[in-house]
Amino acid sequence: MRVGIGTDVHPIEPGRPCWMVGLLFDEADGASGHSDGDVGIHALCDALLSAAGLGDLGEVFSVGRPEWAGVTGAAMLAHVAGLLAENGYVPVNAAVQVIGNRPKIGPRRAEAQRVLSELLGAPVSVSATTTDGLGLTGRGEGLAAVATALLDLK
Ligand code: MG
Repeated sequence: MRVGIGTDVHPIEPGRPCWMVGLLFDEADGASGHSDGDVGIHALCDALLSAAGLGDLGEVFSVGRPEWAGVTGAAMLAHVAGLLAENGYVPVNAAVQVIGNRPKIGPRRAEAQRVLSELLGAPVSVSATTTDGLGLTGRGEGLAAVATALLDLK
């Protein structure tokens, strides 16, 4: 068994679609970025790559690779799941925690868990927290996420 860890932070940009943990939320603003800005999925992908010892998100989906510009979180997670399989790893489970004021994850937690678990092919738990108004997420300037993943060898 191998564990991995991932984190991600993006600034919030007015008018950007708000993608988070594989879902589109009805919010005025979303996270900016080279991709759809889904920090939850980015942290999850990084945790999976970390567990497999396959580098990190910056390496796999580098800004220097134009084919990944505007890539959706779902496509990233599907690609990472494929890399794991190619390298002989089977995901056991993963967990993602979103840090920020909005979007509110709780009401759509089950839906997010279903979407991510389906993409990964293993159970993914989704949780959320705030920082009580402190820091960039507390001031609503950015969104953050941390994730862990457990893999087994085939
Ligand atoms: Mg990111």
